[in-house]
Amino acid sequence: MAELDGLVAVVTGGGSGIGRACAEAFVGAGARVGVLDIDPGDGTDAVLPVPADVTDQASLDRAMAAVAERFGGIDIVVNNAGISSVGTVADNDDAEWHRNLDVNVVGIARTTKAALPYLRRSSHAAVVNTSSIAATAGLPQRVLYSATKGAVHAMTLAMAADFVGEGIRVNCIEPGTVDTPWVGRLLARTEDPAGERARLEARQPIGRLVAADEVARAVLYLASPASGSTTATALPVDGGMFGLRLPRA
Ligand code: NAD
Repeated sequence: MAELDGLVAVVTGGGSGIGRACAEAFVGAGARVGVLDIDPGDGTDAVLPVPADVTDQASLDRAMAAVAERFGGIDIVVNNAGISSVGTVADNDDAEWHRNLDVNVVGIARTTKAALPYLRRSSHAAVVNTSSIAATAGLPQRVLYSATKGAVHAMTLAMAADFVGEGIRVNCIEPGTVDTPWVGRLLARTEDPAGERARLEARQPIGRLVAADEVARAVLYLASPASGSTTATALPVDGGMFGLRLPRA
């Protein structure tokens, strides 16, 4: 039997990058998947694309109902949608702080709230939040993003405490720099994209960027009954950045 046979997952931000890799890995493991995204892409028999914005509670409530109606319930939520502003506290204004907090932090609360009635009916309920190495690494020019991802780590532990009695597990992943369209966009904005990419690769002890599929495999583990005794954890998928704390390039 495949790891997610018979289970239904919802992946926010599933239209691109890590979220898309999660949706593909989940389908490969036997799940049916609702992809919730402002740009959700195309569907298949096992993938229902649903336009939804994690800053809009009503769109999330409608999306969960659509996924449950199509696939018969919801067992797994991957809170992956995220955005990032660059700069120091001197560069970011109030509107940018509120926008990043709204998507990266409150978006997880809204999405999980919308899914809760369905998770409560599942016997394999799991939530996987997407934090980042930025929660712990002290990355320059990422103060706003780091604050939101630190909050995701903290709220993962609190959510796990709130729902452990109901059999709903809550964990998060903390990726290093992952090869996704997001990183491509950041590199394209620099003066020397190839040099900046080499610097990012050297920053990770394994000497390369993390592949989106490697993150998806970690999410799949935390979402699957195979990790049934694991809750309130943060799993780094970061090429050794957190554990080795080597001097960075
Ligand atoms: P990506 O830009 O490739 O994909 C993000 C997806 O989220 C897009 O499809 C986008 O449309 C969607 N999205 C954005 N705002 C949304 C909203 N308000 N409502 C619904 N969907 C929305 O990015 P990615 O690199 O795959 O990143 C995914 C997650 O992983 C983010 O939370 C990010 O912080 C986290 N992360 C990424 C990296 C990395 O290096 N790429 C590292 C650590 C953590």
